[in-house]
Parts: sequence; C-alpha cells; structure tokens
Amino acid sequence: MSLADTQTLNNGVKIPIVGFGTWQMPEDEHTEKIVEHAIRSGYRHIDTAKVYGNETSVGKAIKASGIDREELFVTTKLWNDAHGYEEAKQAIDESLAKLDLDYVDLYLIHWPNPIEHRDNWEEPNAEAWKAMEEAVEAGKIKAIGISNFMIHHMEALLKTAKIKPAINQIYLNPSDHQEEVVEYCCDHDILVEAYSPLGSGRIFEIDDLKDIALKYDKSVAQIVLRWHLDKGFVPLPKTATMERVGENADIFDFKLSEEDTKKIDSLEGVAGTHSDPDQKDF
Ligand code: NDP
Repeated sequence: MSLADTQTLNNGVKIPIVGFGTWQMPEDEHTEKIVEHAIRSGYRHIDTAKVYGNETSVGKAIKASGIDREELFVTTKLWNDAHGYEEAKQAIDESLAKLDLDYVDLYLIHWPNPIEHRDNWEEPNAEAWKAMEEAVEAGKIKAIGISNFMIHHMEALLKTAKIKPAINQIYLNPSDHQEEVVEYCCDHDILVEAYSPLGSGRIFEIDDLKDIALKYDKSVAQIVLRWHLDKGFVPLPKTATMERVGENADIFDFKLSEEDTKKIDSLEGVAGTHSDPDQKDF
C-alpha cells in the first residue's frame, strides 16, 4: 500500500486513499511550501475549501510541485453563502479561478444547513446540487459529494439528485465513529472521508493510544491513520509542520492487531465528538 493507492468512487473516479488537509492554513507562502512538500513527498490528494481562504496558495503549490495534474486529486467545497443554483454556479467558477485549474476532482456541499436557510435547507441544497451536476457535465468537476450531512440531509438530497453523491466527508476519528451515518453511506455506495482524523489534535491526549504507539514503535498519529485505512475511510490529516508531513504518510509498514483495533474502537467519546450541523451558528 502507498499514498498513491486509490479507492473507486460510485462513478468510477479513483481517489487516493489519504488526503492532505489544509484547514486553518492561510493564503500565504508557508501554505504553498507545505502543500508543495506534501505533493513532493507522495501525497496525491489535497483537501481545501472556499472558506479556508487558501485556494490560491494550494493552486500555486500544485503548479510548483511539477506533478502532472492527472496524477493529483483536488477537492474544494461550496460555502454556506452560496446554497442556490446561480450562487453555486458562480462559486464553482470562482474556486476554479483561484485554484487556477480547469477542473477539480471533487466538489462538496460543505455544510447541509446554513443558518440563512435553517427553515428550508432542502431546496437550496437541491438547487446547488443541480449546478454541481451541470458542472460535472461541463467537465469542471469529476465527482460531487457532501460534507457534514446526517441521514435526514442525505435522504432529502437523494429525492431530487440525478447524480448520487460519491462522498460524504464527516468528522471521524477514534473518539467519534458516527456509526449510523457511516452505515447509511455504506448502504448507498457513498464513500466516507474522515475529516479531523486526528480529532484536530485532541487524540494526542489519549493515554491508550500512546501505549499502543509505543508497542509498534510508531507515533500516535501513525497508529490512528492506520486505523482509518483499515476501516476503509479516507483520512485527511492536516499538518502545517514540515516534519510531520512525512510522519503522517509513514503508515504502511505495520499492521494493527485485532486486539489493538478493538481497543481503539472502544475509545468512542473520550476526546470529543462531532457538532450537530443543524445547530451551527453559520
Ligand atoms: P486533524 O485531525 O488532521 O489534526 C490536525 C492537528 O493535529 C493540528 O493541530 C496538527 O498540528 C496536529 N498534528 C498533525 N499531525 C501530527 C503529528 N504527526 N503529531 C502531532 N500533531 C500532529 O485536524 P483538522 O481538523 O484540520 O482536519 C483535517 C482536515 O480535514 C482539514 O485540514 C480539512 O481539510 C478537513 N476538514 C473538513 C471539515 C469539513 O467541515 N468538511 C472540517 C474540519 C476539517 P500542526 O498543524 O501544528 O502540525
């Protein structure tokens, strides 16, 4: 196994099994350098979003890496201010312009229920989805999906979607397994991407993980990322620290025992869980 290995989405598009997360990385030279370093180190999948405010830096890093565009998998996301047909059309073009790319591999509705549409989120989602489907037809996007969608949000979207979502990107790590959402996605052939796969740093406080890491002579991050891969999730670890880029990719030379996997499975809730997308204040 390697970073370039892929899973196949429900539309046949291949997605590299680990993505490089970029939340909380600003539009600046360090972001360009670290994303370029990640690509040069073997990452083939970069996760950004309009709201991260770093699409221009990510685009520059892609160019600077010298890796062929076809070898890379780039994701960006529709922000909450553009849930609607015309708004989403425009947002897609703006993201492509910032990234300086002809197409993105994956485009996601970032959140299901923006505060502006709290009483009628279904229709704006359906309208945005229509714009995304047209962008697929126009060759601007290879695959479309969703993020932070719970079961009722997916059920609503599936009523009108012509193209089924390929991915649901959700908060997922040893402290939050989101079992019902994962099961629903599995049943509907929607691949699950694990955002905050390291709990945004919170998993490093868990003593049981430190013990397991010692046993394998690996770091806690490596143990947890391997756990994600074994579960079939696509983890999106973020680091703004050069040395950790390689560390988080060095996860293919060991195997977790069944006993240790069960121990990690049992950590649900110990370091926080996801927040409710229907209660967000944005
Ligand atoms: P992660 O779970 O990836 O954790 C990142 C944190 O862990 C940072 O503080 C980082 O520090 C630290 N870290 C990373 N590697 C190591 C290591 N080897 N040893 C010690 N510390 C480490 O956090 P995110 O919440 O950023 O999630 C990852 C990605 O998922 C995001 O960047 C984004 O792309 C996506 N995401 C999507 C969301 C959505 O709504 N769709 C929401 C949130 C995230 P440092 O950077 O200082 O090295």
